Amino acid sequence: MKVTEHIKQAKSTLFSFEILPPLKGQSLNDMLDGISPLMDFNPPFIDVTYHREEYIYKKHSNGLLEKVSTRKRPGTVGICAALMNRFNVDTVPHILCGGFNKEETENVLIDLNFIGVENVLALRGDAPKSEGRFVPEEGGHHYSNELVEQIVGMNHGRYLHEETETGFQTDFCVGVAGYPEKHFEAPSFKFDLKYLKAKVDAGAEYIVTQMFFDNQKYFEFVKQVREAGITIPIIPGLKPITTLRQITVLPSIFFLDLPDQLMDELEKCKDNAAVRQVGIEWAIQQSKELVEFGVPCLHYYTMSKASTVHKVASAVF
Ligand code: FAD
Repeated sequence: MKVTEHIKQAKSTLFSFEILPPLKGQSLNDMLDGISPLMDFNPPFIDVTYHREEYIYKKHSNGLLEKVSTRKRPGTVGICAALMNRFNVDTVPHILCGGFNKEETENVLIDLNFIGVENVLALRGDAPKSEGRFVPEEGGHHYSNELVEQIVGMNHGRYLHEETETGFQTDFCVGVAGYPEKHFEAPSFKFDLKYLKAKVDAGAEYIVTQMFFDNQKYFEFVKQVREAGITIPIIPGLKPITTLRQITVLPSIFFLDLPDQLMDELEKCKDNAAVRQVGIEWAIQQSKELVEFGVPCLHYYTMSKASTVHKVASAVF
């Protein structure tokens, strides 16, 4: 079933979460066992991230370095099939512009349609870690509104190179990303909002936000998005802080602020166990306030820490 249908039919706030595919060479079953307790909260859907290639340097015996392209977390499509099989749950694979041309995108969408996936989250992706600037793949999309257009085109039976005939119509429900604290490349919030609107105009049916730790930022975002004439559901993305390292890493990777009150609590912590406790309590308070605000769904970024999300959800659902 589609994410939007789950939201329409829900009698109370839904619980959902995002997982990362295991690193290449690690077991999928271990990961599935790890998230299995989260099924206690009846998630109607689970997101599975997509990871583009990264470049690594291999040293040869003659001392020369070879630049090699590798995908460290492959398997998004297969994981979706495994999740549907094992937990009878809907899945939302993420689809990226970066690293893919339109033909590859079309092929992955056909695979997803054939295994019964009805939802996708359409994203631009970032530059590979070793490169500073996002450059679209040759024959690929530059921005996610173009990717949304391709997916919606297939929902109307439009395929690449088959322009004269209408083909089989897929029926994907397309979600897109939104940034309560602005996307880091956007010169202004208004600019970012304009292109969020472009994604919605292209056919996106719901928005999932980047993580945030200050609910006021989400409330203000929702206000501005509504004022821009966007009416689709806005699902807040949440992540409980679990380690001291994340205090510096999360703001630098995701371009977000940690509120003073949270920082005051975190600075008192002597070790990761104490940080995790503060992170869980903060996420519980955030979640409860968002439920009261009337959000359609609370979406948690597990980042391989399903037990922490379980603790938060136990206090909220
Ligand atoms: P876009 O919507 O394309 O926007 C990118 C930037 O360009 C913004 O600054 C925007 O204002 C601007 N812009 C947009 N359209 C135009 C246009 N037509 N002309 C000019 N400027 C424009 N990354 C992954 O690699 N894998 C994942 O699985 C993944 N999952 C994510 C899930 C969520 C919920 C979120 C919030 C992010 C996720 N990301 C993931 C990260 C995401 O790929 C990055 O944040 C990326 O930098 C932007 O993606 P986007 O789809 O928001 O980009």
